[in-house]
Amino acid sequence: MSIAEIKTRILKAEELAGRPTGSTQLIAVSKVQPNARIQAVLEQGHRLFGENKVQEAQGKWPAFKEQFADVQVHLIGPLQTNKVKTAVALFDAIHTVDRPKLAKKLAAEIQAQGKSPDMFIQVNTGEEPQKAGVLPMDADAFIQECRTLDLPIAGLMVIPPVDEEASLHFALLRKIAERNGLTGLSMGMSSDFERAVALGATHVRVGSAIFGERDYN
Ligand SMILES: *Cc1c(COP(=O)(O)O)cnc(C)c1O
Repeated sequence: MSIAEIKTRILKAEELAGRPTGSTQLIAVSKVQPNARIQAVLEQGHRLFGENKVQEAQGKWPAFKEQFADVQVHLIGPLQTNKVKTAVALFDAIHTVDRPKLAKKLAAEIQAQGKSPDMFIQVNTGEEPQKAGVLPMDADAFIQECRTLDLPIAGLMVIPPVDEEASLHFALLRKIAERNGLTGLSMGMSSDFERAVALGATHVRVGSAIFGERDYN
């Protein structure tokens, strides 16, 4: 599907939900995709991208940024504390803040670099043991802890369990955000971004629907 079609579907979903036009940002998730496909999407005028590995992003985005000055790249995958420095320098937003040690490092690095990417806290709404994110019952305390650390939080992020109705998880994420006075909601992927827009997503992360299937070989 072309990125233009995805944007049309987002606009339609915003309209159906009675939301302001353009209130959802489309993050084109370019992880693992060949540079030629990314280049094509850049040439169609899109400027906001998502990557899930620091090293992979560092390998390709500096060159694209030289070519397209207003490009923004968001980190949507797990962040190790030893890569915080690189991540703060490279990304415009980090969607995966999920533990105190990481929050502390990020707060210190933001001070050191004088650069403040938007921070999202990842919530493991499905309470899946293999998945990153704070548990829903720990979310309020962790949000508060980040605020105490002077780490500005833009919103919350979720990756719902694959075998469950995503809307339930989107609704839970929104509820946690609302009771904590947070407005950013990073939720929705290729298979469910319209449902996420209906439930208030401010950022949808769409990969394969734009670029085609990822070839990991
Ligand atoms: C890969 C990825 C996406 C995009 O998934 P698609 O199903 O290809 O749209 C979204 N969010 C995260 C966190 C991802 O890692």
